[in-house]
Amino acid sequence: MSHLVEDKPLIVDGMGRRFRNLRLSLTAACNYACTYCVPDGKRLQAAAFELEASEMVKAVKLLVSVAGIDKVRITGGEPLLSPKFEEILHGIMDLGLEDVSLTTNGQLLPRHADAIIRSGIRRVNVSLDTLNRDRFREIARSGDLNTVLHGIELMQAGGVAVKINMVPMQGVNDDQIIPLLEYSLARDIELRFIELMNMGHLQASPEYRQEFFSMANILELIAGAYAYTRTDAPFDSTAVRYEIPGQGVFGIIANESEPFCRNCTRLRLSSNGALYGCLSSARSRDIRALLHMPKEEAEAELVQVLRGALADKQSENFQGEVTVMKFIGG
Ligand code: SAM
Repeated sequence: MSHLVEDKPLIVDGMGRRFRNLRLSLTAACNYACTYCVPDGKRLQAAAFELEASEMVKAVKLLVSVAGIDKVRITGGEPLLSPKFEEILHGIMDLGLEDVSLTTNGQLLPRHADAIIRSGIRRVNVSLDTLNRDRFREIARSGDLNTVLHGIELMQAGGVAVKINMVPMQGVNDDQIIPLLEYSLARDIELRFIELMNMGHLQASPEYRQEFFSMANILELIAGAYAYTRTDAPFDSTAVRYEIPGQGVFGIIANESEPFCRNCTRLRLSSNGALYGCLSSARSRDIRALLHMPKEEAEAELVQVLRGALADKQSENFQGEVTVMKFIGG
């Protein structure tokens, strides 16, 4: 089914879903090797034949005009590792979209802080699973906690809003939920807990069930320290949001406990030009060739590609996939 809105074809599925949010993975390379993301502790390398900065910006432009994408999240791998980061950031900021944000592990934030602040981007999500220096290195198998905390301070001092993403794991960092919440509330940061997702090597491992720490577990723990109420969130939000009156808000991205597939508007573009319509499907569609076609031909081809990608979406629950987040962005 397709509708014409403001002379643009909008691609919509039988459940009324369309693509609005693009997660753009700048590189597959990462400077961490988080235990839940890679099995063997080996850091990820860039994918073969990653797109050029100009190709990525062109892809985003085409997706804006054909699919009606109006929100872009720059991610990875680790996006700040990409030598193309600043060029792509500026190229995307120039498109004047409703919302552009960045997801990073924060290790290189101090190095890129000026460029990020100058770009005018308003939001940065920093992934941080613990405030304990040694535990930090056990989970990320790399990096330095204080550098990340310094990066967060620089963002806030530059007027960029910060959210922190934490993946709580039973027996690994569940004792860090309250300290991270205290840290975030004291700094006007929205902390978002991400339920461990059954992806990549976790699919075939007992680790997933052992470490899974549910939304109910998280809320029970927080209830011992704070009174909170559930608040409204935008219909296509991944997070369920809670308010701690007078102190701030936190969110839970409960892939398993409260799946949001029904309202999912996300589309992912990998660093080597493959479009993914669903985080829970390994199916992808290569759009590199399309980026070198004349505009009208490229748009017509992209409509077909996007129809296929939308059909890949699951209807209800996140079932998990061997696809790994690191290649297609969180
Ligand atoms: N390197 C960047 C970062 O650390 O934010 C962007 C990529 S990373 C894959 C994006 C997010 O996915 C991170 O917050 C990470 O914690 C999360 N993530 C990766 N694997 C996950 C899993 N199996 N379950 C839940 N979250 C996961």
